[in-house]
Amino acid sequence: MKLSVPKEAAAGERRVATVPEVVKKLSSDGVEVHIDPGAGEEAHHPDGQYADAGAKVEGGAGLSGQVVAKVQPPSPEEIGQLSEGTVLIGFLQPLTNGDTAKALADAGVTSFAMEAIPRITRAQSMDALSSQATVGGYRAALIAAQELGRFFPMLTTAAGTIRPAKILVLGAGVAGLQAIATARRLGAVLSAFDVRSAVKEQIGSLGAKFVELDIGLEDAESAGGYARALTDEEQQRQREALADVIEGMDGVISTAAVPGRRAPLLIIEDAVKRMKPGSVIVDLAAETGGNCELTESGKTLVKHDVKIIGPENLPASMPDHASQLYAKNVQSLLGLMVDEEGALHLNFDDEIIAGACITRDGEIVHEGAKKAAGVATESEG
Ligand code: NAD
Repeated sequence: MKLSVPKEAAAGERRVATVPEVVKKLSSDGVEVHIDPGAGEEAHHPDGQYADAGAKVEGGAGLSGQVVAKVQPPSPEEIGQLSEGTVLIGFLQPLTNGDTAKALADAGVTSFAMEAIPRITRAQSMDALSSQATVGGYRAALIAAQELGRFFPMLTTAAGTIRPAKILVLGAGVAGLQAIATARRLGAVLSAFDVRSAVKEQIGSLGAKFVELDIGLEDAESAGGYARALTDEEQQRQREALADVIEGMDGVISTAAVPGRRAPLLIIEDAVKRMKPGSVIVDLAAETGGNCELTESGKTLVKHDVKIIGPENLPASMPDHASQLYAKNVQSLLGLMVDEEGALHLNFDDEIIAGACITRDGEIVHEGAKKAAGVATESEG
Protein backbone atom coordinates (compact mmCIF):
# COMPACT_ATOMS: atom_id res chain seq x y z
CA MET A 1 0.00 0.00 0.00
CA LYS A 2 1.13 3.49 -0.78
CA LEU A 3 0.44 6.07 1.96
CA SER A 4 1.03 9.72 1.21
CA VAL A 5 1.20 12.72 3.51
CA PRO A 6 0.91 16.29 2.22
CA LYS A 7 2.22 19.49 3.75
CA GLU A 8 -0.78 21.02 5.52
CA ALA A 9 -2.05 23.99 3.54
CA ALA A 10 -4.37 25.64 6.09
CA ALA A 11 -3.16 28.96 7.51
CA GLY A 12 -1.44 28.55 10.89
CA GLU A 13 -1.43 24.75 10.76
CA ARG A 14 1.99 23.55 11.87
CA ARG A 15 1.18 19.88 12.49
CA VAL A 16 1.84 17.01 10.13
CA ALA A 17 -0.02 13.70 9.89
CA THR A 18 3.02 11.47 10.27
CA VAL A 19 6.41 11.65 12.00
CA PRO A 20 9.65 9.79 11.17
CA GLU A 21 9.25 7.32 14.05
CA VAL A 22 5.88 6.23 12.66
CA VAL A 23 7.21 6.14 9.07
CA LYS A 24 9.87 3.69 10.23
CA LYS A 25 7.28 1.37 11.73
CA LEU A 26 4.94 1.62 8.74
CA SER A 27 7.81 0.95 6.32
CA SER A 28 8.80 -2.16 8.25
CA ASP A 29 5.16 -3.31 7.96
CA GLY A 30 5.37 -3.08 4.17
CA VAL A 31 3.69 0.31 3.72
CA GLU A 32 5.34 2.61 1.17
CA VAL A 33 5.29 6.18 2.55
CA HIS A 34 5.50 9.27 0.31
CA ILE A 35 5.67 12.75 1.78
CA ASP A 36 5.74 16.31 0.47
CA PRO A 37 9.06 18.14 0.94
CA GLY A 38 8.85 20.38 4.00
CA ALA A 39 5.71 18.65 5.32
CA GLY A 40 7.22 18.15 8.77
CA GLU A 41 9.36 21.26 8.87
CA GLU A 42 7.14 23.26 11.23
CA ALA A 43 6.88 20.28 13.56
CA HIS A 44 10.71 20.21 13.54
CA HIS A 45 11.10 17.11 11.40
CA PRO A 46 13.31 17.99 8.42
CA ASP A 47 12.97 16.00 5.18
CA GLY A 48 16.18 14.07 5.92
CA GLN A 49 14.62 12.46 8.98
CA TYR A 50 11.71 11.14 6.91
CA ALA A 51 14.06 9.88 4.21
CA ASP A 52 16.22 8.11 6.82
CA ALA A 53 13.07 6.48 8.20
CA GLY A 54 12.26 5.05 4.77
CA ALA A 55 9.90 7.62 3.24
CA LYS A 56 10.13 8.93 -0.32
CA VAL A 57 10.29 12.72 -0.08
CA GLU A 58 9.20 14.14 -3.45
CA GLY A 59 7.36 17.19 -4.75
CA GLY A 60 3.66 16.64 -5.44
CA ALA A 61 3.68 13.29 -3.62
CA GLY A 62 1.42 14.29 -0.72
CA LEU A 63 -1.96 13.63 -2.30
CA SER A 64 -0.95 10.81 -4.63
CA GLY A 65 -1.26 7.76 -2.38
CA GLN A 66 -3.80 5.00 -2.29
CA VAL A 67 -4.29 6.29 1.26
CA VAL A 68 -3.75 9.98 2.09
CA ALA A 69 -3.33 11.05 5.72
CA LYS A 70 -3.94 14.69 6.67
CA VAL A 71 -4.57 16.75 9.76
CA GLN A 72 -7.01 19.45 8.58
CA PRO A 73 -10.00 18.92 6.29
CA PRO A 74 -8.92 19.07 2.63
CA SER A 75 -9.51 22.30 0.72
CA PRO A 76 -11.54 22.14 -2.51
CA GLU A 77 -8.22 22.39 -4.43
CA GLU A 78 -6.82 19.42 -2.50
CA ILE A 79 -9.98 17.39 -3.10
CA GLY A 80 -9.59 18.20 -6.80
CA GLN A 81 -6.18 16.49 -6.74
CA LEU A 82 -7.42 13.25 -5.14
CA SER A 83 -8.09 10.44 -7.60
CA GLU A 84 -11.32 8.49 -7.46
CA GLY A 85 -11.06 5.62 -5.00
CA THR A 86 -8.47 7.33 -2.78
CA VAL A 87 -8.84 6.66 0.94
CA LEU A 88 -8.54 9.87 2.97
CA ILE A 89 -7.94 10.01 6.72
CA GLY A 90 -8.05 13.24 8.73
CA PHE A 91 -10.09 15.63 10.83
CA LEU A 92 -13.05 16.24 8.52
CA GLN A 93 -15.52 18.02 10.86
CA PRO A 94 -18.32 15.68 9.73
CA LEU A 95 -21.02 17.20 11.94
CA THR A 96 -20.49 20.78 10.80
CA ASN A 97 -18.67 20.73 7.47
CA GLY A 98 -21.26 19.37 5.05
CA ASP A 99 -19.60 20.95 2.01
CA THR A 100 -16.41 18.93 2.48
CA ALA A 101 -18.36 15.67 2.87
CA LYS A 102 -20.34 16.47 -0.29
CA ALA A 103 -17.19 17.30 -2.28
CA LEU A 104 -15.46 14.11 -1.09
CA ALA A 105 -18.47 12.00 -2.06
CA ASP A 106 -18.64 13.67 -5.49
CA ALA A 107 -14.92 13.01 -6.00
CA GLY A 108 -15.43 9.30 -5.22
CA VAL A 109 -13.11 9.47 -2.21
CA THR A 110 -13.53 6.98 0.64
CA SER A 111 -13.04 9.20 3.66
CA PHE A 112 -12.56 8.51 7.35
CA ALA A 113 -12.90 11.23 9.98
CA MET A 114 -10.74 10.98 13.07
CA GLU A 115 -13.56 12.71 15.00
CA ALA A 116 -16.01 9.96 14.08
CA ILE A 117 -13.97 7.03 15.41
CA PRO A 118 -16.22 5.46 18.07
CA ARG A 119 -14.88 6.24 21.54
CA ILE A 120 -14.76 2.60 22.58
CA THR A 121 -11.93 0.98 24.53
CA ARG A 122 -10.51 -0.80 21.46
CA ALA A 123 -10.20 2.55 19.66
CA GLN A 124 -8.45 4.45 22.46
CA SER A 125 -5.09 4.44 20.67
CA MET A 126 -6.80 6.08 17.65
CA ASP A 127 -8.57 8.79 19.67
CA ALA A 128 -7.21 11.95 18.09
CA LEU A 129 -9.90 14.11 19.70
CA SER A 130 -8.41 13.14 23.06
CA SER A 131 -4.75 13.43 22.03
CA GLN A 132 -5.23 16.91 20.58
CA ALA A 133 -7.54 18.06 23.41
CA THR A 134 -4.77 17.05 25.83
CA VAL A 135 -2.46 19.51 24.05
CA GLY A 136 -5.18 22.20 24.02
CA GLY A 137 -5.92 21.87 27.74
CA TYR A 138 -2.23 22.02 28.66
CA ARG A 139 -1.63 25.11 26.53
CA ALA A 140 -4.77 26.82 27.86
CA ALA A 141 -3.49 26.52 31.43
CA LEU A 142 -0.11 27.94 30.40
CA ILE A 143 -1.78 30.86 28.60
CA ALA A 144 -3.84 31.64 31.71
CA ALA A 145 -0.68 31.60 33.85
CA GLN A 146 1.21 33.72 31.34
CA GLU A 147 -1.50 36.34 30.87
CA LEU A 148 -2.50 36.75 34.52
CA GLY A 149 -0.61 39.53 36.23
CA ARG A 150 -0.42 37.42 39.37
CA PHE A 151 1.39 34.27 40.53
CA PHE A 152 -0.36 30.90 40.30
CA PRO A 153 1.40 29.40 43.38
CA MET A 154 1.29 30.54 46.96
CA LEU A 155 4.59 32.18 47.86
CA THR A 156 6.00 33.05 51.23
CA THR A 157 8.70 35.65 50.69
CA ALA A 158 10.58 38.21 52.72
CA ALA A 159 8.42 40.80 50.98
CA GLY A 160 5.22 39.18 52.14
CA THR A 161 2.94 36.28 51.37
CA ILE A 162 1.29 35.82 48.01
CA ARG A 163 -2.02 33.98 47.91
CA PRO A 164 -2.39 31.31 45.23
CA ALA A 165 -4.50 32.10 42.17
CA LYS A 166 -8.01 30.68 42.08
CA ILE A 167 -8.79 29.08 38.73
CA LEU A 168 -12.12 27.70 37.61
CA VAL A 169 -12.30 25.15 34.79
CA LEU A 170 -15.64 24.85 33.00
CA GLY A 171 -16.15 21.57 31.17
CA ALA A 172 -14.04 18.71 32.52
CA GLY A 173 -13.64 16.51 29.43
CA VAL A 174 -10.21 15.64 28.11
CA ALA A 175 -9.06 19.26 27.66
CA GLY A 176 -10.56 20.47 30.95
CA LEU A 177 -8.97 17.68 32.98
CA GLN A 178 -5.57 18.40 31.41
CA ALA A 179 -6.00 22.13 32.16
CA ILE A 180 -6.77 21.25 35.80
CA ALA A 181 -3.72 19.00 36.08
CA THR A 182 -1.41 21.60 34.50
CA ALA A 183 -2.69 24.57 36.52
CA ARG A 184 -2.44 22.50 39.71
CA ARG A 185 1.20 21.70 38.95
CA LEU A 186 1.80 25.42 38.73
CA GLY A 187 0.32 25.82 42.21
CA ALA A 188 -3.10 27.34 41.56
CA VAL A 189 -6.17 26.41 43.60
CA LEU A 190 -8.59 24.69 41.23
CA SER A 191 -12.30 24.24 41.05
CA ALA A 192 -14.25 22.82 38.14
CA PHE A 193 -17.75 22.28 36.87
CA ASP A 194 -19.26 19.94 34.31
CA VAL A 195 -22.81 18.87 33.56
CA ARG A 196 -21.79 15.20 33.54
CA SER A 197 -21.67 13.94 37.11
CA ALA A 198 -19.37 11.06 36.07
CA VAL A 199 -16.45 13.51 36.08
CA LYS A 200 -16.88 14.54 39.74
CA GLU A 201 -14.51 11.81 40.86
CA GLN A 202 -11.94 12.62 38.14
CA ILE A 203 -11.99 16.29 39.12
CA GLY A 204 -11.49 15.33 42.77
CA SER A 205 -8.64 12.95 42.00
CA LEU A 206 -6.74 15.78 40.29
CA GLY A 207 -6.99 17.86 43.45
CA ALA A 208 -9.71 20.23 42.23
CA LYS A 209 -13.01 20.98 43.93
CA PHE A 210 -16.20 20.07 42.05
CA VAL A 211 -18.51 23.07 42.04
CA GLU A 212 -22.07 22.06 42.93
CA LEU A 213 -24.57 24.38 41.30
CA ASP A 214 -27.98 24.29 42.94
CA ILE A 215 -29.94 24.47 39.68
CA GLY A 216 -31.92 21.22 39.86
CA LEU A 217 -29.92 19.67 37.01
CA GLU A 218 -29.70 15.89 36.92
CA ASP A 219 -26.74 14.24 35.18
CA ALA A 220 -26.65 15.52 31.58
CA GLU A 221 -24.63 12.67 30.08
CA SER A 222 -25.95 11.23 26.82
CA ALA A 223 -24.84 8.70 24.20
CA GLY A 224 -21.13 7.98 23.84
CA GLY A 225 -20.24 9.64 27.17
CA TYR A 226 -20.81 13.14 25.75
CA ALA A 227 -22.93 15.88 27.34
CA ARG A 228 -26.41 16.53 25.99
CA ALA A 229 -27.36 20.09 25.10
CA LEU A 230 -29.16 21.74 28.02
CA THR A 231 -32.61 23.29 27.58
CA ASP A 232 -32.80 27.11 27.36
CA GLU A 233 -34.14 27.27 30.90
CA GLU A 234 -31.42 24.98 32.30
CA GLN A 235 -28.78 27.08 30.54
CA GLN A 236 -30.18 30.29 31.96
CA ARG A 237 -30.12 28.92 35.52
CA GLN A 238 -26.60 27.60 34.96
CA ARG A 239 -25.28 30.96 33.72
CA GLU A 240 -26.73 32.84 36.67
CA ALA A 241 -25.39 30.35 39.22
CA LEU A 242 -21.97 30.34 37.55
CA ALA A 243 -21.76 34.13 37.69
CA ASP A 244 -21.69 33.87 41.51
CA VAL A 245 -18.86 31.31 41.38
CA ILE A 246 -16.84 33.18 38.73
CA GLU A 247 -16.88 36.39 40.79
CA GLY A 248 -14.27 35.05 43.22
CA MET A 249 -11.89 33.68 40.57
CA ASP A 250 -8.61 35.03 39.20
CA GLY A 251 -9.01 33.03 36.04
CA VAL A 252 -11.47 30.86 34.14
CA ILE A 253 -10.48 28.23 31.57
CA SER A 254 -13.57 27.20 29.68
CA THR A 255 -13.70 24.06 27.53
CA ALA A 256 -17.41 23.17 27.46
CA ALA A 257 -18.61 21.64 24.20
CA VAL A 258 -21.43 19.57 22.76
CA PRO A 259 -20.46 17.72 19.55
CA GLY A 260 -21.81 19.28 16.36
CA ARG A 261 -23.41 22.28 18.13
CA ARG A 262 -22.49 25.81 19.06
CA ALA A 263 -20.53 25.80 22.35
CA PRO A 264 -22.81 26.38 25.36
CA LEU A 265 -22.84 29.97 26.58
CA LEU A 266 -21.76 29.84 30.22
CA ILE A 267 -20.13 33.19 31.03
CA ILE A 268 -22.39 36.20 30.55
CA GLU A 269 -21.17 39.79 30.46
CA ASP A 270 -22.45 40.38 33.99
CA ALA A 271 -20.17 37.57 35.25
CA VAL A 272 -17.17 39.21 33.54
CA LYS A 273 -18.09 42.60 35.09
CA ARG A 274 -18.12 41.02 38.53
CA MET A 275 -14.61 39.49 38.21
CA LYS A 276 -11.68 41.17 39.90
CA PRO A 277 -9.84 43.69 37.70
CA GLY A 278 -6.95 41.98 35.93
CA SER A 279 -8.53 38.52 35.86
CA VAL A 280 -8.31 36.30 32.76
CA ILE A 281 -10.62 34.06 30.79
CA VAL A 282 -9.15 31.54 28.34
CA ASP A 283 -12.01 30.36 26.18
CA LEU A 284 -11.04 27.11 24.47
CA ALA A 285 -14.48 26.99 22.87
CA ALA A 286 -13.79 30.22 20.93
CA GLU A 287 -13.82 28.51 17.54
CA THR A 288 -17.28 27.03 18.06
CA GLY A 289 -18.92 30.23 19.28
CA GLY A 290 -17.28 30.64 22.70
CA ASN A 291 -18.34 29.78 26.25
CA CYS A 292 -18.08 33.47 27.12
CA GLU A 293 -20.47 36.00 25.65
CA LEU A 294 -17.63 38.46 24.98
CA THR A 295 -15.15 36.08 23.33
CA GLU A 296 -13.98 36.78 19.81
CA SER A 297 -12.32 33.84 18.13
CA GLY A 298 -8.61 34.33 17.52
CA LYS A 299 -8.46 37.54 19.55
CA THR A 300 -7.41 38.76 22.99
CA LEU A 301 -9.71 41.50 24.26
CA VAL A 302 -9.85 43.45 27.48
CA LYS A 303 -13.42 44.07 28.67
CA HIS A 304 -14.34 45.39 32.13
CA ASP A 305 -10.61 45.11 32.94
CA VAL A 306 -10.71 41.34 32.31
CA LYS A 307 -8.57 39.76 29.61
CA ILE A 308 -10.66 37.47 27.40
CA ILE A 309 -8.56 35.18 25.22
CA GLY A 310 -10.13 33.17 22.38
CA PRO A 311 -7.30 30.99 21.04
CA GLU A 312 -7.68 29.10 17.77
CA ASN A 313 -6.16 25.72 17.00
CA LEU A 314 -4.04 25.43 20.15
CA PRO A 315 -2.71 21.97 19.19
CA ALA A 316 -0.91 23.63 16.24
CA SER A 317 0.94 25.84 18.74
CA MET A 318 2.70 22.74 20.07
CA PRO A 319 3.32 20.99 16.75
CA ASP A 320 6.06 18.54 17.78
CA HIS A 321 4.14 16.53 20.35
CA ALA A 322 0.73 17.23 18.81
CA SER A 323 2.00 15.69 15.53
CA GLN A 324 3.65 12.79 17.33
CA LEU A 325 0.44 11.87 19.14
CA TYR A 326 -1.70 12.39 16.04
CA ALA A 327 0.66 10.30 13.91
CA LYS A 328 0.32 7.44 16.41
CA ASN A 329 -3.48 7.76 16.28
CA VAL A 330 -3.34 7.52 12.47
CA GLN A 331 -0.91 4.60 12.64
CA SER A 332 -3.33 2.71 14.91
CA LEU A 333 -6.23 3.32 12.53
CA LEU A 334 -4.09 2.19 9.59
CA GLY A 335 -3.40 -0.99 11.57
CA LEU A 336 -7.07 -1.88 11.01
CA MET A 337 -6.88 -1.07 7.32
CA VAL A 338 -3.76 -2.93 6.22
CA ASP A 339 -3.46 -6.71 6.08
CA GLU A 340 -0.40 -8.79 6.94
CA GLU A 341 1.13 -8.32 3.48
CA GLY A 342 0.85 -4.55 3.81
CA ALA A 343 -2.12 -4.34 1.39
CA LEU A 344 -5.16 -2.14 1.92
CA HIS A 345 -8.17 -4.06 3.14
CA LEU A 346 -11.20 -2.15 4.47
CA ASN A 347 -13.45 -4.30 6.63
CA PHE A 348 -16.73 -2.43 6.93
CA ASP A 349 -18.01 -5.06 9.38
CA ASP A 350 -15.60 -3.55 11.91
CA GLU A 351 -17.50 -0.93 13.94
CA ILE A 352 -14.47 1.39 14.01
CA ILE A 353 -14.06 1.35 10.21
CA ALA A 354 -17.81 1.64 9.64
CA GLY A 355 -18.29 4.33 12.33
CA ALA A 356 -15.43 6.55 11.10
CA CYS A 357 -16.40 6.32 7.41
CA ILE A 358 -17.92 9.54 6.07
CA THR A 359 -18.07 8.95 2.31
CA ARG A 360 -17.97 5.80 0.22
CA ASP A 361 -18.94 4.83 -3.35
CA GLY A 362 -19.88 8.41 -4.19
CA GLU A 363 -22.26 8.77 -1.21
CA ILE A 364 -22.16 10.31 2.23
CA VAL A 365 -22.67 7.36 4.58
CA HIS A 366 -22.27 8.99 8.02
CA GLU A 367 -25.62 10.05 9.51
CA GLY A 368 -24.26 13.22 11.15
CA ALA A 369 -22.48 14.26 7.95
CA LYS A 370 -25.63 13.64 5.90
CA LYS A 371 -27.48 16.01 8.20
CA ALA A 372 -24.72 18.62 7.92
CA ALA A 373 -24.78 18.31 4.13
CA GLY A 374 -28.57 18.49 3.95
CA VAL A 375 -28.91 14.94 2.57
CA ALA A 376 -31.88 12.82 3.81
CA THR A 377 -30.84 10.74 6.83
CA GLU A 378 -31.91 7.15 7.54
CA SER A 379 -34.32 8.28 10.27
CA GLU A 380 -36.02 10.60 7.78
CA GLY A 381 -36.31 7.70 5.33
P1 NAD B 1 -16.18 17.62 24.60
O1 NAD B 1 -14.99 18.30 24.05
O2 NAD B 1 -17.33 17.27 23.71
O3 NAD B 1 -16.78 18.51 25.79
C1 NAD B 1 -15.95 19.02 26.82
C2 NAD B 1 -16.70 18.96 28.13
O4 NAD B 1 -17.72 19.97 28.17
C3 NAD B 1 -17.40 17.63 28.42
O5 NAD B 1 -16.87 17.09 29.61
C4 NAD B 1 -18.86 18.03 28.55
O6 NAD B 1 -19.55 17.24 29.52
C5 NAD B 1 -18.76 19.47 29.00
N1 NAD B 1 -19.98 20.28 28.84
C6 NAD B 1 -20.89 20.29 27.83
N2 NAD B 1 -21.88 21.18 28.09
C7 NAD B 1 -21.58 21.77 29.26
C8 NAD B 1 -22.19 22.77 30.05
N3 NAD B 1 -23.34 23.34 29.66
N4 NAD B 1 -21.62 23.13 31.21
C9 NAD B 1 -20.46 22.55 31.61
N5 NAD B 1 -19.82 21.60 30.93
C10 NAD B 1 -20.38 21.21 29.76
O7 NAD B 1 -15.80 16.29 25.36
P2 NAD B 1 -14.50 15.39 25.28
O8 NAD B 1 -13.49 15.92 26.20
O9 NAD B 1 -14.12 15.16 23.87
O10 NAD B 1 -15.04 14.01 25.83
C11 NAD B 1 -16.11 13.92 26.72
C12 NAD B 1 -16.19 12.54 27.27
O11 NAD B 1 -16.19 11.52 26.23
C13 NAD B 1 -15.03 12.10 28.09
O12 NAD B 1 -14.81 12.73 29.25
C14 NAD B 1 -15.37 10.62 28.20
O13 NAD B 1 -16.41 10.37 29.07
C15 NAD B 1 -15.76 10.33 26.81
N6 NAD B 1 -14.57 9.75 26.22
C16 NAD B 1 -14.49 8.40 26.15
C17 NAD B 1 -13.34 7.80 25.64
C18 NAD B 1 -13.23 6.31 25.57
O14 NAD B 1 -12.28 5.82 25.05
N7 NAD B 1 -14.17 5.57 26.07
C19 NAD B 1 -12.30 8.58 25.19
C20 NAD B 1 -12.40 9.95 25.27
C21 NAD B 1 -13.54 10.51 25.77
